[in-house]
Amino acid sequence: MKKLLFTCFLALLVSTILAQGSCLTTEQTLLEMERDATFAGGMEAFQVLSEAFEHGTLDDASREGFKEVTIPVVVHVLYRLEENNISYDQILSQIEVLNRDFNWQQSDKDLIPEVWRDLGAAAKIKFKLADRDPDGNFTNGVTRTQTDVENIGTEELYYLAHRGGVAPWTQPFYMNIWVCELKGNSLGFAILPGSTMSKRDGVVISPRAFGTMGTAKPPYNLGRTMVHEAGHYFGLRHVWGSDNEKCGSTDYIDDTPKQKAENYGCKTFPSISCNNGPNGDMFMNFMDYSNDVCALLFTKRQVEFMQLVLKTNRRAMFYSNGVTSVADPNLNEWKIYPNPSTGVVHLEFGDTLPGKMELFNVMGEMVGQWIPANNIERWDLSSLPKGVYYLRSLGHHQSLILR
Ligand SMILES: [Zn+2]
Repeated sequence: MKKLLFTCFLALLVSTILAQGSCLTTEQTLLEMERDATFAGGMEAFQVLSEAFEHGTLDDASREGFKEVTIPVVVHVLYRLEENNISYDQILSQIEVLNRDFNWQQSDKDLIPEVWRDLGAAAKIKFKLADRDPDGNFTNGVTRTQTDVENIGTEELYYLAHRGGVAPWTQPFYMNIWVCELKGNSLGFAILPGSTMSKRDGVVISPRAFGTMGTAKPPYNLGRTMVHEAGHYFGLRHVWGSDNEKCGSTDYIDDTPKQKAENYGCKTFPSISCNNGPNGDMFMNFMDYSNDVCALLFTKRQVEFMQLVLKTNRRAMFYSNGVTSVADPNLNEWKIYPNPSTGVVHLEFGDTLPGKMELFNVMGEMVGQWIPANNIERWDLSSLPKGVYYLRSLGHHQSLILR
């Protein structure tokens, strides 16, 4: 009887371990550093940035001047089995969760232990499926490709079109998400944002942990795995630090307690490790491994760090043309890009549209005028001769070079 009980216990233990999903961010980022010396150099610089942040020397820089950003997202549905060719609605369900959880709008905040509830903060990072692709064409922000490579996420071929994967869209300007098979219990990973970008930059995630419907399976069917991976994408580490240093390792975030290792399932508060009593591990942080129902917050310092990364290693996101329907609220006047241009330019306005815009050549002759109707407008000036022009609206003017 004893033996049978023990066998049952073992079987239970094994099935529990097998059911626990894990994130490969640390391993995959290290692997990429071994393979790509340029990326490794960029990660060293990122390490310096992280340490400076942890020591508080960047506090003013990280708190200043960040209003909001909208991240253009492209989802590459890369499926071997037809059932993993997930629906557009499933993709939208994930985008909705990202927008909710990154902006402190989750309705389950009351599950956060009271001692930490005030630490929760809105990152002011918004996500939108791209509506313009890198060639300037209209898109719904989703690509669909069938592959015959098994576990293409863990085979590291997901980003290579000639090896059965899908090539990323211009990585500085789009958050690339590959939804594809991963080996074993792996749920996903993101390559950390070094100051030089990896060729593999983006998020890889299993269809069983993406969105809140369809292929998403409990306990990972509330979209929080993607919130966790997006946290990595904006530079956050696991709350327990790196995997091999135990209590000596840091996540560079000083309002998350030190903790020994990852927490699975749904722990009961307090759960003590590394002498971190009385409150113990912050197992309900998005950067731990708790089940979706128990993953609940980013802290203020995590939010500040993500915003710092957006202002440094991911700053190109502010200048992406991947989403046309959202104007940049950081903008006080207007901006024009590209400049110099070969003919087609985009004009982007802040909250207020100027009444009229006029374009002059170097002789001071007006060569065109427009009344902008949208926050972002695309103008084709390719019929004008090459040269320097001046664009003017009330109170603001800027030169434009056509070449
Ligand atoms: Zn992770």
